[in-house]
Amino acid sequence: MSERLRDYHGKRDFRRTGEPEGREGRAGAEPRFVVQIHDASTMHFDFRLQVDDVLKSWSIPKGPSDIPKDKRLAVPTEDHPLEYEEFEGVIPEGEYGGGTVIVWDHGSYEPLSHDRKGHPVDFAESLERGHATFRLHGAKLHGAYALTRFREDNWLLVKTAEGGARGHGTPDPRRARSARTGRTLAQVAAEES
Ligand code: MN
Repeated sequence: MSERLRDYHGKRDFRRTGEPEGREGRAGAEPRFVVQIHDASTMHFDFRLQVDDVLKSWSIPKGPSDIPKDKRLAVPTEDHPLEYEEFEGVIPEGEYGGGTVIVWDHGSYEPLSHDRKGHPVDFAESLERGHATFRLHGAKLHGAYALTRFREDNWLLVKTAEGGARGHGTPDPRRARSARTGRTLAQVAAEES
């Protein structure tokens, strides 16, 4: 089992939760991203970007916005296995992250990070340095975004202004539907409990 998933495994009892344990490697050609809505003790969005064989993860209380002036706080959480992109369901009450999860959006992304001279830099390295840019190709989210570390280990997720795109802001998490199954949180909760 990947050392990189030690925190993920340490927080969960896989006899009780239906979340994936994570298998070794499965990296495809294009890196993946997923945004999940998680109705846990507090409602939040989870934003995950594939870096090598894990999903680097941030919890975003208000969710990502597609309006360039909106700065969204993103707090890092433990790396998740790649299969978590498909996870939708109910984590039992009393377990870590207990509550309902839907896949709000997913797809591939293109790393865009460059150094001052315009040369591409390694994406994992740009995250380690605290600033990474990337273009999302999702069902709902499209275009270039930046993640920037600003204090201790808090980050901001911002859509970069390009092409005068008109944004929709963030949807109401209780009315939003899964990009995988079209279901709302309430429908997933009713069907899986
Ligand atoms: Mn979460």
